[in-house]
Amino acid sequence: MADEKPREAHDDMRKLFSSAKPNLGHDGIALLEMLLQPAKVQVITQNIDGFHQEAGSSWVLEIHGTTRQIVCSRECGYAAAWTDDSPRLCPVCGGRTRPNVVWFGEALNEMLFELAEESSKSADIFFAVGTSGVVQPAAGLALLAGNSGALTVEVNLSETPFTQFADHSIRASASDFFQELCKALRSKRLRQVR
Ligand SMILES: [Zn+2]
Repeated sequence: MADEKPREAHDDMRKLFSSAKPNLGHDGIALLEMLLQPAKVQVITQNIDGFHQEAGSSWVLEIHGTTRQIVCSRECGYAAAWTDDSPRLCPVCGGRTRPNVVWFGEALNEMLFELAEESSKSADIFFAVGTSGVVQPAAGLALLAGNSGALTVEVNLSETPFTQFADHSIRASASDFFQELCKALRSKRLRQVR
């Protein structure tokens, strides 16, 4: 019986996420990828909702995992989409299944995080968007990018610990900022065509 409660909590969480949708911020970042081609737009997120992929971004690192997937708690390698019918027990080894999410206090996936570091180090521009800037070690990625030569732009409604290090700090929501940026890029393209 001890297993029932977390399972219910997991199901509640999945329903909560599946009823929500990407916002204009996710849409804008996905659109940016199209507008900036052939430059790459890589998304590193602490969110676990899968909204960046749903909006259309093609390169997304979810360093805290995703509620779109369940995995085996014994780490046997089993993974599947998380649906109403997902098995409670791993069909491979019989271990309990769980959301593929990194809870507070758990270690991040090292390989994923190394990829995030590589991506940050090689960036020309690094946008730090809507994050409190205090969840370590993810917050260090913006600093790493800046120290590796990227132009750093913070987009946040309020000041964060990263504000003093950012090249530009913009007080706006992600939705407003990326919609405006895409609009500006589009009109620049139109002018170039003419
Ligand atoms: Zn298993």
